[in-house]
Amino acid sequence: MNKLILLHIFFLAVLFLFSPVIQAKDKKITVVIDAGHGGKDSGAKGSTVNEKVINLAVALKLGNLIADNYDDVKVIYTRKTDKFIELDERANIANRNKADLFISIHANAVKKGSHVIGTETFTLGLARTEENLDVAKRENSVIMLEDNYLQKYENFDPNSTESYIIFEFMQNKHLEQSISFASEIQKAFTTAKRVDRGVKQAGLLVLRKTSMPSVLVELGFMTNKDEEKYMKSAAGQNVLAAALYNAFVKYKKEYDKRTAGQNKTVAPAVSPKQEVNEETGKKEINSAHAKKDPVVYKIQILISPKKLSATDKRFKGYKNISYYQDGKIYKYTCFESANKEAADKKLLQVKKDFSGAFVVAFKNGKRNL
Ligand SMILES: [Zn+2]
Repeated sequence: MNKLILLHIFFLAVLFLFSPVIQAKDKKITVVIDAGHGGKDSGAKGSTVNEKVINLAVALKLGNLIADNYDDVKVIYTRKTDKFIELDERANIANRNKADLFISIHANAVKKGSHVIGTETFTLGLARTEENLDVAKRENSVIMLEDNYLQKYENFDPNSTESYIIFEFMQNKHLEQSISFASEIQKAFTTAKRVDRGVKQAGLLVLRKTSMPSVLVELGFMTNKDEEKYMKSAAGQNVLAAALYNAFVKYKKEYDKRTAGQNKTVAPAVSPKQEVNEETGKKEINSAHAKKDPVVYKIQILISPKKLSATDKRFKGYKNISYYQDGKIYKYTCFESANKEAADKKLLQVKKDFSGAFVVAFKNGKRNL
C-alpha cells in the first residue's frame, strides 16, 4: 500500500516537473520566411532559371524543415507561389504576425559570365563597400515595379548612392541578434562547403521596416554558371536549405537561453555586491544607483559607426545625450530615469522626432538585454 502511495507521489512529481516544459511549448515563436521577388519580378536572371524560382524552392524547403522539427515554431511565408509582393508588404507580414525572426532569401548577380561565387548574408546598415551597395541597389530596385513607389518609399531612389545615407543613422534595435543569426548562417554555409563571402551590411529596404531580427541571404551567384546550376538542382537546394535550417537551430538555442535568462533578470532583488566593481559606464548610471532600482532606463534614438558630438544636428537639439558602444557601433540615447514608466511616457514624445526610438535598460552601466 505504501508503495502505491509513493508511486503516486512519484508520478505527481514527474507531472509537476514537466509542466513548465508544456508551458514553454505553448509559447510559440514565429519565423517569417521571405522568398525574394516573384510574379512579374523575376529577380536576377540566370541562363536557364530566374532567381525567384530558386528563392521560393529554398524557402519552402527551409520552412518544411523547421515545421517538421519544431512544435514550438510557427512558420509563415510571404509567398508560397509565384506571386508579386511589394517590398514593404513583406516586412508588414512579419510585423503583423509579430514574428520573432525574418529571413529573406535571394540569389546574387554581378556581370554576366563572371566567375564570382559564394554566399553572403546581410543585415541592415550602411554598405561599407561598393560591392555591398550594388547588392542593395539591385535588390531595392524592384520597388520601381510597384505603383506609387516614390510616394510609398518617401522619394527613395534605389539607384542613387545618396539615397543610402539614411541607413547610416537608421535605428535598429535588433542589429546584434541579426548579426548573430547572419554569422550562424555563414558558418553553416561553410560547413556545407559553400564559399563564404561573409556577413555584410547594406541599406536593404525589405529589412528596413521589420521590427524583429532580420537578415537577407544571398544563396549564390546566378551569374556564375556552375553556381546557377547548383542552385537550380534539387540537391543543391536541399544543401542550402539544410544549412539555413542548421543556422536556425543554433539561433533558436540561443533564443531559448536568452528568453529563459530574461525571466531571471526581471527578478528585482539584486544584492549590493553585484553593483560594485563595474567600470564601464559607471559615471553614466550614477543617478540610477538610487537605492531600490539598480536599473536605469534610457531612450535610444540613433546608432552611428562614427562618434558624434553631443551638439550634432542629428540629435535635433535633444539634451542629455549619452552613448554606449556595441562593437564598432556607437548607440546614442537621450533621457535617463530609474523609472520605467517615466521612460515609456517620454518615449511617446521622443518618437515624434525619432520614429525608431525605443527604451533600453542598463544595469550597472551595461545594457540589460
Ligand atoms: Zn534578389
